[in-house]
Amino acid sequence: MTAFDIIRHGILPLLFLCLPEMIGVPIWVVWYFVKDVCVVLLVSSSLLFSVGLYKIFYRIHWRMKMEKFEWIRCPVCGNKTRNRIKEDTELKNFPLYCPKCKHESLIEVKDLQITVIK
Ligand SMILES: [Zn+2]
Repeated sequence: MTAFDIIRHGILPLLFLCLPEMIGVPIWVVWYFVKDVCVVLLVSSSLLFSVGLYKIFYRIHWRMKMEKFEWIRCPVCGNKTRNRIKEDTELKNFPLYCPKCKHESLIEVKDLQITVIK
């Protein structure tokens, strides 16, 4: 607790509380101001809250959508390649290039089953 903290948390709020009384502003003006500040805070917090909820649900939805895809694994080294397949993907004589071991292999894909031709 420094002297700055005492000023910031003790003296300044007291000054702000006494400010309307000191400059002669009626209490109903202070009440309207406080009420408006409360309304603004409530609206912005509920907006932020709903945006947060939307982001969370959008992420879950996006992840579930992504899970329907499967990465094709390299038949040589077993690492993931840059190609993905869906449940209904059909490939014939597809040259699969592996960025890890730099091998290219011809594959066939049907019903998520990958067969190597060459
Ligand atoms: Zn590989």
